[in-house]
Amino acid sequence: MEIGDTKENIVIVGGGICGLATALALHRKGIRSVVLERSNTLRATGAAIIVHPNGWRALDQLGVASHLRETAIPILSGQFHSLNNDELKEMPVGKEELRCLRRTDLVDILANSLPRNTLHLGCEVLSIKLDPITSSPVLQLQGGRLLNAKVVIGCDGVNSPISNMMGVKADKIFTISVIRGFTSYPNGHNSALSSD
Ligand SMILES: Cc1cc2nc3c(=O)[nH]c(=O)nc-3n(C[C@H](O)[C@H](O)[C@H](O)COP(=O)(O)OP(=O)(O)OC[C@H]3O[C@@H](n4cnc5c(N)ncnc54)[C@H](O)[C@@H]3O)c2cc1C
Repeated sequence: MEIGDTKENIVIVGGGICGLATALALHRKGIRSVVLERSNTLRATGAAIIVHPNGWRALDQLGVASHLRETAIPILSGQFHSLNNDELKEMPVGKEELRCLRRTDLVDILANSLPRNTLHLGCEVLSIKLDPITSSPVLQLQGGRLLNAKVVIGCDGVNSPISNMMGVKADKIFTISVIRGFTSYPNGHNSALSSD
């Protein structure tokens, strides 16, 4: 990790879609932040992601949507299959934009749109404590370094260590579900473009 300072105004913990998008949103408003990601590389868990109309509006605001639309596949229909009662329900697809895109495309364009020295890989946050004098957050990083922040934004995923450290317990939203897709390739299947 290459953070030179021991102080940062805004620290975002987690370099997934949310952390990168948050840093880019701040950057578009002229606000500097740093993103600390514990992995040594950017990871895109899973191959594809469906982006709903509100997501496309957010990506438009971030200035990355038109590039992503070049490869994102519009979704015209779909069905939900309940495992409990074998019921099939049509997926409500409105007139607004609903598309599926490669996760790596999304992660890459968000990361590549950030200014240099924003994203710090291999940088795990081990704990956060409040400075007893200033009450500002102090992050302990792997390797023993301390980083003082004015604002810490937790984008560290569903099992968020940050929320655990703060004593916030999230409700479990989903039980078990499976998504199965079908794609037709009228002009043949280009394996270089495929996602499973
Ligand atoms: C099978 C599946 C299908 C899905 N399909 C869709 C879909 O079609 N459409 C949709 O909108 N959503 C979908 N989702 C949900 C979507 O993938 C997630 O909401 C989204 O990826 C979460 O991104 P995130 O950045 O919040 O978290 P994550 O991608 O989990 O990123 C969190 C990051 O924080 C890092 N981190 C964690 N702890 C620390 C620490 N202490 N220090 C530093 N870094 C840390 C992790 O390494 C990780 O990179 C799906 C999810 C699953 C599982």
